[in-house]
Amino acid sequence: MEASIQVNLVLMPLILYVASSNPGKLRDFRVAAEHTSVEILPLPNLAAIPAPDETGATFAENARLKAEYYSLQLPGQLVLADDSGLEVPALQNDPGVRSARFADDAHYLPNSPLSTDERNNLFLLDRMTNVTARAARYRCVLSLARDGAEILSATGEVPGEILASPRGTGGFGYDPLFYLPQLHKTMAEIDLNTKHHLSHRGAALRALLARTQQSAPEIA
Ligand code: IMP
Repeated sequence: MEASIQVNLVLMPLILYVASSNPGKLRDFRVAAEHTSVEILPLPNLAAIPAPDETGATFAENARLKAEYYSLQLPGQLVLADDSGLEVPALQNDPGVRSARFADDAHYLPNSPLSTDERNNLFLLDRMTNVTARAARYRCVLSLARDGAEILSATGEVPGEILASPRGTGGFGYDPLFYLPQLHKTMAEIDLNTKHHLSHRGAALRALLARTQQSAPEIA
């Protein structure tokens, strides 16, 4: 299966314009698109386009809303948008779509000099006091749209566990608490190259590219 997808992608070059200027995200996608003829480019002029409100109740809704909106800015082209975050099953999948605003939503340490990431991590630990089920996952949903209509979506996940205290200085967000049992390290302790290869964004892009062959061959 893998081999046939790669051969087909070599025959059908695709340019995907990503609705993000985050260099880490772009690199996650580029690493996942290596050895295919898919080219990942940032959406031109993104900084000048007002961002839409992320009003969706799920990652899929937010990714779709962004992909459809930004695809109207680049008629006829394929535009990719993502939404991602941390899910902890023992917390009913919180922080979920509110991952970036987890502490703010709860007014947790509102006037603290700590960064948003630090407050989010402290709030997560607070919510997990006495919680023994520490399983968690990073999840990314990607939406691919053209001319204001979603064509495909796909999901990628990285499983892990939430530690009782932070470890490591790399990464961002919840990375210092997100432990990878197979590597015996947190996401904040692994090198960038390993992180890009593990990425939930990369996994979502690989799933999406596989689906372009199965369900939407007309986009190539
Ligand atoms: P975004 O909206 O997809 O950029 O991500 C929303 C939030 O999810 C971020 O602000 C982080 O708190 C969290 N998040 C998403 N991906 C990661 C990751 O790879 N590492 C750490 N935190 C992440």
